[in-house]
Amino acid sequence: MKTQALSPNLESATCNLEEMKSNKIVSFQSLTEKVGRFNLRNKTFLIPQMNRIGGHLLAATFRGFDIRAKVMETSKGLDLGKEYTSGKECYPCQITIGDILYFMKKERDRLGGAFNPEDYVYFMPEADGPCRFGMYNKYQRIVLDSFPELDRVRIGALTTRDGYSLAGIIEEERVSDLRKSAYFSVVVGDILDRLLWRIRPYEKEAGMTDDFIEKSMKTMEVAFERYGADKNFDKILDRLDEIIERGKRIIDPKIPPKPLIGIVGEIYLRTHVHANQDLIRVLERYGAEVVNASIAEWMNYTTYDRLRDARMGFRLNLKQFHFGLLREHFRKILSFGGELFYQEFRQKQVYKRARQLIDLAKDHKVANLENTLKEEDLFSFDAGTEACLSISGIVQYAREGYNGVVNVYPFTCMPSTTTSAIVKPLMNKLGVPYLDTPYDSSFQPGREAAIRTFMYQAHQHFNRHGRRNHI
Ligand code: SF4
Repeated sequence: MKTQALSPNLESATCNLEEMKSNKIVSFQSLTEKVGRFNLRNKTFLIPQMNRIGGHLLAATFRGFDIRAKVMETSKGLDLGKEYTSGKECYPCQITIGDILYFMKKERDRLGGAFNPEDYVYFMPEADGPCRFGMYNKYQRIVLDSFPELDRVRIGALTTRDGYSLAGIIEEERVSDLRKSAYFSVVVGDILDRLLWRIRPYEKEAGMTDDFIEKSMKTMEVAFERYGADKNFDKILDRLDEIIERGKRIIDPKIPPKPLIGIVGEIYLRTHVHANQDLIRVLERYGAEVVNASIAEWMNYTTYDRLRDARMGFRLNLKQFHFGLLREHFRKILSFGGELFYQEFRQKQVYKRARQLIDLAKDHKVANLENTLKEEDLFSFDAGTEACLSISGIVQYAREGYNGVVNVYPFTCMPSTTTSAIVKPLMNKLGVPYLDTPYDSSFQPGREAAIRTFMYQAHQHFNRHGRRNHI
Protein backbone atom coordinates (compact mmCIF):
# COMPACT_ATOMS: atom_id res chain seq x y z
CA MET A 1 0.00 0.00 0.00
CA LYS A 2 1.57 3.28 -1.09
CA THR A 3 1.01 5.88 1.61
CA GLN A 4 3.46 8.58 0.68
CA ALA A 5 5.44 9.86 -2.28
CA LEU A 6 8.49 7.80 -3.19
CA SER A 7 11.94 9.33 -3.16
CA PRO A 8 13.55 9.50 -6.62
CA ASN A 9 15.86 6.70 -5.58
CA LEU A 10 13.07 4.42 -4.50
CA GLU A 11 10.92 5.49 -7.40
CA SER A 12 13.52 4.11 -9.78
CA ALA A 13 13.78 0.98 -7.63
CA THR A 14 10.03 0.54 -7.93
CA CYS A 15 10.15 1.01 -11.71
CA ASN A 16 12.76 -1.70 -12.02
CA LEU A 17 10.77 -3.98 -9.80
CA GLU A 18 7.74 -3.30 -11.96
CA GLU A 19 9.76 -4.40 -14.98
CA MET A 20 10.72 -7.58 -13.18
CA LYS A 21 7.16 -8.36 -12.18
CA SER A 22 5.50 -11.33 -13.88
CA ASN A 23 1.90 -12.42 -14.18
CA LYS A 24 2.73 -15.71 -12.62
CA ILE A 25 0.16 -17.38 -10.39
CA VAL A 26 1.61 -18.18 -7.01
CA SER A 27 2.34 -21.84 -6.47
CA PHE A 28 1.93 -23.09 -2.93
CA GLN A 29 4.60 -25.68 -3.66
CA SER A 30 6.99 -22.77 -3.47
CA LEU A 31 6.21 -22.39 0.23
CA THR A 32 7.61 -25.83 0.95
CA GLU A 33 10.36 -25.92 -1.65
CA LYS A 34 11.79 -22.43 -1.28
CA VAL A 35 11.14 -21.69 2.40
CA GLY A 36 13.03 -23.80 4.90
CA ARG A 37 16.52 -24.76 6.01
CA PHE A 38 19.01 -24.67 3.14
CA ASN A 39 22.70 -25.41 2.94
CA LEU A 40 24.50 -22.06 3.08
CA ARG A 41 27.78 -23.20 1.60
CA ASN A 42 28.71 -20.96 -1.37
CA LYS A 43 25.63 -18.79 -0.82
CA THR A 44 25.33 -15.23 0.45
CA PHE A 45 23.33 -15.41 3.65
CA LEU A 46 21.30 -12.22 4.05
CA ILE A 47 20.47 -11.25 7.62
CA PRO A 48 17.83 -8.54 8.18
CA GLN A 49 18.94 -5.86 10.59
CA MET A 50 16.80 -6.02 13.71
CA ASN A 51 19.10 -4.94 16.50
CA ARG A 52 22.22 -3.57 14.87
CA ILE A 53 24.93 -4.97 17.14
CA GLY A 54 23.49 -8.46 17.52
CA GLY A 55 22.90 -8.75 13.76
CA HIS A 56 26.47 -7.81 12.92
CA LEU A 57 27.99 -10.15 15.49
CA LEU A 58 25.81 -12.99 14.22
CA ALA A 59 26.93 -12.33 10.65
CA ALA A 60 30.57 -12.27 11.80
CA THR A 61 30.06 -15.63 13.51
CA PHE A 62 28.74 -17.16 10.30
CA ARG A 63 31.67 -15.70 8.39
CA GLY A 64 33.97 -17.43 10.86
CA PHE A 65 32.40 -20.67 9.62
CA ASP A 66 33.20 -19.66 6.01
CA ILE A 67 29.64 -18.64 5.20
CA ARG A 68 29.26 -15.36 3.30
CA ALA A 69 26.91 -13.66 5.74
CA LYS A 70 25.85 -10.06 5.31
CA VAL A 71 23.58 -7.75 7.29
CA MET A 72 21.21 -5.91 4.96
CA GLU A 73 20.64 -2.17 5.25
CA THR A 74 17.33 -1.49 6.88
CA SER A 75 14.43 0.94 6.42
CA LYS A 76 15.73 2.38 3.14
CA GLY A 77 13.23 0.24 1.25
CA LEU A 78 10.30 1.01 3.51
CA ASP A 79 8.30 2.56 0.66
CA LEU A 80 8.72 -0.67 -1.28
CA GLY A 81 7.62 -2.59 1.80
CA LYS A 82 4.49 -0.47 1.98
CA GLU A 83 3.86 -0.87 -1.72
CA TYR A 84 3.93 -4.65 -1.59
CA THR A 85 1.83 -5.06 1.54
CA SER A 86 -1.82 -4.23 2.11
CA GLY A 87 -1.37 -2.28 5.35
CA LYS A 88 -2.87 -5.07 7.46
CA GLU A 89 0.43 -6.82 8.08
CA CYS A 90 2.52 -6.23 11.18
CA TYR A 91 4.98 -3.36 10.80
CA PRO A 92 8.12 -5.59 10.99
CA CYS A 93 6.78 -7.52 8.00
CA GLN A 94 6.56 -4.29 5.99
CA ILE A 95 10.06 -3.22 6.96
CA THR A 96 11.68 -6.57 6.21
CA ILE A 97 9.96 -7.04 2.84
CA GLY A 98 11.17 -3.54 1.95
CA ASP A 99 14.70 -4.43 3.08
CA ILE A 100 14.95 -7.52 0.87
CA LEU A 101 13.42 -5.87 -2.21
CA TYR A 102 15.69 -2.86 -1.82
CA PHE A 103 18.75 -5.07 -1.35
CA MET A 104 17.94 -7.17 -4.40
CA LYS A 105 17.40 -4.13 -6.54
CA LYS A 106 20.77 -2.66 -5.51
CA GLU A 107 22.47 -6.01 -5.99
CA ARG A 108 21.07 -6.39 -9.46
CA ASP A 109 22.25 -2.87 -10.34
CA ARG A 110 25.69 -3.63 -8.90
CA LEU A 111 26.23 -6.96 -10.62
CA GLY A 112 24.30 -6.48 -13.86
CA GLY A 113 24.38 -9.67 -15.94
CA ALA A 114 26.34 -11.52 -13.26
CA PHE A 115 23.41 -11.24 -10.82
CA ASN A 116 22.19 -14.70 -9.90
CA PRO A 117 19.29 -14.91 -7.43
CA GLU A 118 20.23 -18.47 -6.57
CA ASP A 119 23.38 -17.15 -4.89
CA TYR A 120 21.32 -15.80 -1.97
CA VAL A 121 19.50 -17.19 1.02
CA TYR A 122 17.41 -14.60 2.82
CA PHE A 123 17.04 -15.29 6.54
CA MET A 124 13.52 -14.92 7.89
CA PRO A 125 12.82 -17.02 11.00
CA GLU A 126 9.33 -17.88 12.15
CA ALA A 127 7.31 -18.86 15.17
CA ASP A 128 4.58 -21.48 15.21
CA GLY A 129 1.90 -18.98 16.20
CA PRO A 130 -0.54 -18.15 17.46
CA CYS A 131 0.22 -14.68 16.04
CA ARG A 132 1.30 -13.63 12.54
CA PHE A 133 5.04 -14.13 12.82
CA GLY A 134 4.65 -17.61 11.29
CA MET A 135 3.23 -15.99 8.16
CA TYR A 136 5.92 -13.40 7.36
CA ASN A 137 8.11 -15.74 5.35
CA LYS A 138 5.11 -17.24 3.52
CA TYR A 139 3.85 -13.81 2.56
CA GLN A 140 7.33 -12.67 1.58
CA ARG A 141 7.72 -15.82 -0.51
CA ILE A 142 4.57 -14.87 -2.43
CA VAL A 143 5.90 -11.34 -3.03
CA LEU A 144 9.33 -12.59 -4.16
CA ASP A 145 7.66 -15.17 -6.43
CA SER A 146 5.82 -12.41 -8.22
CA PHE A 147 9.12 -11.22 -9.73
CA PRO A 148 10.59 -13.39 -12.48
CA GLU A 149 14.10 -13.32 -11.05
CA LEU A 150 13.47 -13.11 -7.35
CA ASP A 151 11.41 -16.29 -7.34
CA ARG A 152 14.73 -18.10 -7.17
CA VAL A 153 15.91 -16.36 -3.98
CA ARG A 154 15.45 -18.87 -1.18
CA ILE A 155 14.15 -17.98 2.26
CA GLY A 156 16.10 -19.59 5.08
CA ALA A 157 13.49 -20.14 7.77
CA LEU A 158 14.49 -21.30 11.21
CA THR A 159 11.55 -22.07 13.41
CA THR A 160 10.71 -22.04 17.10
CA ARG A 161 9.09 -25.47 16.53
CA ASP A 162 12.51 -27.09 16.90
CA GLY A 163 14.07 -24.33 19.03
CA TYR A 164 15.72 -22.67 15.96
CA SER A 165 17.68 -25.80 15.00
CA LEU A 166 20.50 -25.13 12.51
CA ALA A 167 20.63 -28.72 11.22
CA GLY A 168 21.29 -28.92 7.49
CA ILE A 169 22.60 -25.42 6.91
CA ILE A 170 26.26 -26.44 7.15
CA GLU A 171 28.17 -29.72 7.50
CA GLU A 172 26.59 -31.84 10.21
CA GLU A 173 29.75 -32.07 12.33
CA ARG A 174 29.91 -28.24 12.61
CA VAL A 175 26.26 -27.55 13.38
CA SER A 176 26.66 -27.81 17.14
CA ASP A 177 29.66 -25.44 17.16
CA LEU A 178 27.83 -22.94 14.96
CA ARG A 179 24.82 -23.00 17.25
CA LYS A 180 26.97 -22.45 20.33
CA SER A 181 28.96 -19.62 18.76
CA ALA A 182 25.84 -17.99 17.34
CA TYR A 183 24.21 -18.03 20.77
CA PHE A 184 27.40 -16.63 22.31
CA SER A 185 27.35 -13.78 19.79
CA VAL A 186 23.78 -12.99 20.80
CA VAL A 187 24.75 -12.75 24.47
CA VAL A 188 27.80 -10.59 23.75
CA GLY A 189 25.60 -8.37 21.54
CA ASP A 190 23.21 -8.00 24.49
CA ILE A 191 26.10 -6.97 26.73
CA LEU A 192 27.29 -4.32 24.27
CA ASP A 193 23.73 -2.98 24.07
CA ARG A 194 23.52 -2.86 27.86
CA LEU A 195 26.87 -1.14 28.00
CA LEU A 196 25.59 1.51 25.60
CA TRP A 197 22.45 2.16 27.70
CA ARG A 198 24.49 2.15 30.92
CA ILE A 199 27.09 4.66 29.72
CA ARG A 200 25.26 7.03 27.37
CA PRO A 201 23.07 8.80 29.97
CA TYR A 202 26.23 9.65 31.95
CA GLU A 203 28.70 10.42 29.13
CA LYS A 204 31.20 13.25 29.56
CA GLU A 205 30.52 14.64 26.10
CA ALA A 206 27.49 14.12 23.87
CA GLY A 207 28.15 11.53 21.15
CA MET A 208 31.14 9.85 22.81
CA THR A 209 29.24 6.65 23.61
CA ASP A 210 27.75 6.17 20.16
CA ASP A 211 31.19 6.47 18.53
CA PHE A 212 32.72 4.17 21.10
CA ILE A 213 30.06 1.46 20.74
CA GLU A 214 30.25 1.56 16.95
CA LYS A 215 34.02 0.96 17.11
CA SER A 216 33.55 -1.70 19.78
CA MET A 217 31.05 -3.54 17.60
CA LYS A 218 33.63 -3.69 14.82
CA THR A 219 36.28 -4.96 17.26
CA MET A 220 33.93 -7.71 18.36
CA GLU A 221 33.07 -8.60 14.76
CA VAL A 222 36.75 -9.26 14.13
CA ALA A 223 36.93 -11.32 17.34
CA PHE A 224 33.96 -13.47 16.33
CA GLU A 225 35.28 -14.00 12.81
CA ARG A 226 38.64 -15.04 14.21
CA TYR A 227 37.73 -17.05 17.31
CA GLY A 228 34.05 -17.98 17.03
CA ALA A 229 34.43 -21.10 14.89
CA ASP A 230 36.99 -22.59 17.31
CA LYS A 231 34.78 -21.62 20.26
CA ASN A 232 37.72 -19.76 21.71
CA PHE A 233 35.31 -17.77 23.88
CA ASP A 234 37.98 -16.72 26.38
CA LYS A 235 39.71 -14.66 23.70
CA ILE A 236 36.40 -13.02 22.81
CA LEU A 237 35.72 -12.25 26.46
CA ASP A 238 39.21 -10.74 26.81
CA ARG A 239 38.26 -8.26 24.06
CA LEU A 240 34.97 -7.59 25.81
CA ASP A 241 36.79 -6.85 29.08
CA GLU A 242 38.99 -4.30 27.32
CA ILE A 243 35.96 -2.65 25.78
CA ILE A 244 34.15 -2.40 29.11
CA GLU A 245 37.22 -0.91 30.78
CA ARG A 246 37.48 1.73 28.07
CA GLY A 247 33.74 2.39 28.16
CA LYS A 248 33.80 3.08 31.89
CA ARG A 249 36.11 6.02 31.28
CA ILE A 250 33.37 7.76 29.30
CA ILE A 251 31.15 7.99 32.39
CA ASP A 252 31.19 11.35 34.13
CA PRO A 253 31.16 10.50 37.88
CA LYS A 254 29.67 13.92 38.67
CA ILE A 255 26.35 13.03 36.98
CA PRO A 256 24.01 11.58 39.64
CA PRO A 257 21.94 8.39 39.06
CA LYS A 258 18.83 8.84 36.94
CA PRO A 259 15.40 7.17 37.00
CA LEU A 260 15.63 3.59 35.76
CA ILE A 261 13.19 2.60 33.01
CA GLY A 262 12.60 -0.97 31.83
CA ILE A 263 11.47 -1.84 28.31
CA VAL A 264 9.50 -4.91 27.24
CA GLY A 265 7.50 -5.70 24.13
CA GLU A 266 7.67 -7.16 20.68
CA ILE A 267 11.26 -8.15 19.95
CA TYR A 268 11.62 -6.47 16.55
CA LEU A 269 10.12 -3.14 17.53
CA ARG A 270 11.87 -2.82 20.84
CA THR A 271 15.29 -3.48 19.27
CA HIS A 272 14.99 -1.81 15.85
CA VAL A 273 15.85 1.84 16.46
CA HIS A 274 14.31 3.15 13.22
CA ALA A 275 11.07 1.26 13.79
CA ASN A 276 10.67 2.54 17.34
CA GLN A 277 11.80 6.03 16.33
CA ASP A 278 14.82 5.77 18.60
CA LEU A 279 12.70 5.45 21.72
CA ILE A 280 15.59 4.79 24.11
CA ARG A 281 17.33 7.98 23.04
CA VAL A 282 14.10 9.96 23.49
CA LEU A 283 13.66 8.53 26.99
CA GLU A 284 17.29 9.42 27.75
CA ARG A 285 16.67 12.94 26.51
CA TYR A 286 14.04 13.28 29.23
CA GLY A 287 16.38 12.03 31.93
CA ALA A 288 16.14 8.21 31.91
CA GLU A 289 18.59 5.37 32.16
CA VAL A 290 17.05 2.50 30.21
CA VAL A 291 17.30 -1.29 30.22
CA ASN A 292 15.69 -3.11 27.31
CA ALA A 293 14.74 -6.80 27.43
CA SER A 294 17.46 -8.86 25.75
CA ILE A 295 17.56 -10.98 22.59
CA ALA A 296 18.97 -13.98 24.49
CA GLU A 297 15.84 -13.94 26.66
CA TRP A 298 13.77 -14.78 23.55
CA MET A 299 16.25 -17.49 22.48
CA ASN A 300 16.12 -19.02 25.95
CA TYR A 301 12.34 -18.80 25.94
CA THR A 302 12.00 -20.74 22.67
CA THR A 303 14.24 -23.52 24.01
CA TYR A 304 12.45 -23.46 27.37
CA ASP A 305 9.08 -23.68 25.65
CA ARG A 306 10.14 -26.70 23.59
CA LEU A 307 11.42 -28.38 26.75
CA ARG A 308 8.13 -27.59 28.47
CA ASP A 309 6.15 -29.13 25.56
CA ALA A 310 8.31 -32.26 25.63
CA ARG A 311 7.77 -32.65 29.37
CA MET A 312 4.01 -32.23 28.98
CA GLY A 313 3.94 -34.74 26.11
CA PHE A 314 5.89 -37.21 28.20
CA ARG A 315 3.53 -36.90 31.16
CA LEU A 316 0.43 -37.13 28.96
CA ASN A 317 1.61 -40.23 27.12
CA LEU A 318 2.67 -41.85 30.35
CA LYS A 319 -0.83 -41.34 31.77
CA GLN A 320 -2.40 -42.77 28.62
CA PHE A 321 0.07 -45.70 28.42
CA HIS A 322 1.29 -44.63 24.94
CA PHE A 323 4.71 -46.08 25.51
CA GLY A 324 5.71 -45.82 21.86
CA LEU A 325 5.82 -42.00 22.00
CA LEU A 326 7.51 -41.84 25.38
CA ARG A 327 10.94 -42.49 23.96
CA GLU A 328 10.59 -39.58 21.47
CA HIS A 329 9.47 -37.18 24.21
CA PHE A 330 12.27 -38.37 26.46
CA ARG A 331 14.79 -37.75 23.67
CA LYS A 332 13.45 -34.22 23.26
CA ILE A 333 13.60 -33.59 27.00
CA LEU A 334 17.28 -34.53 26.99
CA SER A 335 18.01 -32.52 23.85
CA PHE A 336 16.18 -29.28 24.77
CA GLY A 337 17.12 -29.65 28.45
CA GLY A 338 20.81 -29.87 27.46
CA GLU A 339 20.50 -26.87 25.16
CA LEU A 340 18.79 -24.73 27.77
CA PHE A 341 21.37 -25.69 30.37
CA TYR A 342 24.17 -24.72 27.98
CA GLN A 343 22.56 -21.40 27.00
CA GLU A 344 21.90 -20.33 30.57
CA PHE A 345 25.35 -21.43 31.65
CA ARG A 346 27.02 -19.36 28.91
CA GLN A 347 24.79 -16.37 29.50
CA LYS A 348 25.52 -16.41 33.21
CA GLN A 349 29.25 -16.72 32.54
CA VAL A 350 29.32 -13.67 30.25
CA TYR A 351 27.16 -11.52 32.54
CA LYS A 352 29.19 -12.49 35.59
CA ARG A 353 32.41 -11.50 33.90
CA ALA A 354 31.02 -8.20 32.59
CA ARG A 355 29.39 -7.34 35.90
CA GLN A 356 32.73 -7.70 37.69
CA LEU A 357 33.80 -4.63 35.74
CA ILE A 358 30.62 -2.55 35.56
CA ASP A 359 27.16 -2.69 37.13
CA LEU A 360 25.06 -3.85 34.16
CA ALA A 361 21.53 -5.16 34.67
CA LYS A 362 21.27 -8.96 34.92
CA ASP A 363 19.02 -10.82 32.54
CA HIS A 364 15.82 -12.56 33.63
CA LYS A 365 15.80 -16.35 33.84
CA VAL A 366 12.86 -17.79 31.91
CA ALA A 367 11.89 -20.30 34.62
CA ASN A 368 11.71 -17.39 37.10
CA LEU A 369 9.50 -15.48 34.70
CA GLU A 370 7.09 -18.40 34.48
CA ASN A 371 7.05 -18.67 38.28
CA THR A 372 6.28 -14.94 38.50
CA LEU A 373 3.24 -15.41 36.27
CA LYS A 374 2.05 -18.32 38.37
CA GLU A 375 2.54 -16.42 41.65
CA GLU A 376 0.58 -13.44 40.38
CA ASP A 377 -1.90 -15.61 38.43
CA LEU A 378 -1.70 -13.19 35.51
CA PHE A 379 -1.15 -15.28 32.39
CA SER A 380 0.06 -18.73 31.40
CA PHE A 381 2.99 -19.99 29.38
CA ASP A 382 0.44 -22.39 27.84
CA ALA A 383 -0.89 -19.44 25.83
CA GLY A 384 2.61 -18.75 24.46
CA THR A 385 3.88 -15.66 22.57
CA GLU A 386 5.98 -12.80 23.84
CA ALA A 387 3.19 -11.82 26.22
CA CYS A 388 4.64 -14.52 28.54
CA LEU A 389 7.93 -12.61 28.70
CA SER A 390 6.51 -9.10 28.64
CA ILE A 391 3.95 -9.51 31.42
CA SER A 392 6.32 -11.32 33.74
CA GLY A 393 9.17 -8.96 32.76
CA ILE A 394 7.09 -5.95 33.77
CA VAL A 395 6.33 -7.50 37.17
CA GLN A 396 10.02 -8.28 37.64
CA TYR A 397 11.01 -4.71 36.78
CA ALA A 398 8.47 -3.42 39.33
CA ARG A 399 9.79 -5.79 41.98
CA GLU A 400 13.39 -4.78 41.21
CA GLY A 401 12.61 -1.12 41.93
CA TYR A 402 12.51 0.29 38.40
CA ASN A 403 10.91 3.74 38.20
CA GLY A 404 8.79 3.03 35.13
CA VAL A 405 8.13 0.50 32.36
CA VAL A 406 7.48 0.98 28.64
CA ASN A 407 5.82 -1.59 26.40
CA VAL A 408 6.98 -1.19 22.76
CA TYR A 409 5.15 -2.92 19.93
CA PRO A 410 3.82 -2.71 16.38
CA PHE A 411 0.36 -1.21 16.05
CA THR A 412 -2.22 -4.06 16.37
CA CYS A 413 0.34 -6.57 17.68
CA MET A 414 -1.66 -9.31 19.36
CA PRO A 415 0.66 -10.41 22.21
CA SER A 416 1.55 -6.83 23.13
CA THR A 417 -2.06 -5.70 23.17
CA THR A 418 -2.78 -8.64 25.49
CA THR A 419 0.14 -7.54 27.66
CA SER A 420 -1.17 -4.01 27.84
CA ALA A 421 -4.68 -5.12 28.85
CA ILE A 422 -3.31 -7.31 31.67
CA VAL A 423 -0.63 -5.09 33.16
CA LYS A 424 -2.25 -1.66 33.12
CA PRO A 425 -4.51 -2.28 36.17
CA LEU A 426 -1.63 -4.01 37.92
CA MET A 427 0.76 -1.11 37.39
CA ASN A 428 -1.89 1.30 38.64
CA LYS A 429 -2.17 -0.78 41.78
CA LEU A 430 1.61 -0.94 42.22
CA GLY A 431 1.96 2.78 41.55
CA VAL A 432 4.69 2.25 38.93
CA PRO A 433 4.49 4.51 35.84
CA TYR A 434 3.67 2.55 32.70
CA LEU A 435 3.47 3.55 29.03
CA ASP A 436 2.25 1.74 25.89
CA THR A 437 4.03 2.83 22.72
CA PRO A 438 2.52 1.26 19.57
CA TYR A 439 4.38 2.05 16.33
CA ASP A 440 3.72 1.95 12.63
CA SER A 441 5.42 4.00 9.94
CA SER A 442 3.53 7.18 10.83
CA PHE A 443 4.77 9.86 13.20
CA GLN A 444 2.11 10.67 15.75
CA PRO A 445 2.29 14.27 16.99
CA GLY A 446 1.34 13.34 20.56
CA ARG A 447 3.92 10.60 21.00
CA GLU A 448 6.70 12.74 22.41
CA ALA A 449 4.28 14.49 24.79
CA ALA A 450 3.18 11.07 26.10
CA ILE A 451 6.83 10.09 26.68
CA ARG A 452 7.54 13.40 28.42
CA THR A 453 4.55 12.95 30.71
CA PHE A 454 5.60 9.39 31.47
CA MET A 455 9.11 10.57 32.34
CA TYR A 456 7.65 13.25 34.63
CA GLN A 457 5.86 10.47 36.53
CA ALA A 458 9.03 8.37 36.55
CA HIS A 459 10.97 11.28 38.08
CA GLN A 460 8.32 11.60 40.79
CA HIS A 461 8.56 7.87 41.49
CA PHE A 462 12.34 8.19 41.62
CA ASN A 463 12.20 11.15 44.03
CA ARG A 464 9.80 9.28 46.30
CA HIS A 465 11.30 5.78 46.22
CA GLY A 466 14.81 6.23 44.86
CA ARG A 467 16.06 3.41 42.67
CA ARG A 468 17.79 0.16 43.23
CA ASN A 469 21.18 -0.39 41.70
CA HIS A 470 21.38 -3.13 39.08
CA ILE A 471 21.01 -6.43 40.91
S1 SF4 B 1 4.36 -10.61 17.74
FE1 SF4 B 1 2.98 -8.96 17.11
S2 SF4 B 1 4.09 -7.94 15.49
FE2 SF4 B 1 5.04 -9.91 15.73
S3 SF4 B 1 3.94 -11.21 14.28
FE3 SF4 B 1 2.91 -11.43 16.22
S4 SF4 B 1 1.23 -9.96 16.13
FE4 SF4 B 1 2.72 -9.41 14.55
